[in-house]
Amino acid sequence: MENNFIGLKKILLKRRAKLMSALKKRKYEKRDIRHGDDMDQAESAYEQEMSYIFGGRESEEIKAINEALDRIDKGTYGICENCDEMIGMKRLEAMPFVKYCVNCQEDIERKKEIETVLTSSWDEDNNGGS
Ligand SMILES: [Zn+2]
Repeated sequence: MENNFIGLKKILLKRRAKLMSALKKRKYEKRDIRHGDDMDQAESAYEQEMSYIFGGRESEEIKAINEALDRIDKGTYGICENCDEMIGMKRLEAMPFVKYCVNCQEDIERKKEIETVLTSSWDEDNNGGS
């Protein structure tokens, strides 16, 4: 069983290295942008915003990968954090950093949607009422 996870661990490490180098590369690019003083201000602000958005997503993924590697070391990898059922190998191969089985993931996403709807209508009520 553990042999299966060695392959996934390699994939996770490779993916993390790729994300890290992408983040580093973007930092250098950002420095270059700041260097040129002819650069239109609006454009460089846009660039910064974009790198912030993508950087954020990559950091999130790195975090998820670190957690997955941690679980491999602890021996809890491949077990759903919500219901303690085994996550299918096919699912792990497709998304090695998942924490939940398909059923729980769907549940969580459904709840998130409800939460988003609730908070957005809450905001509307708060902003509109005066
Ligand atoms: Zn589950």
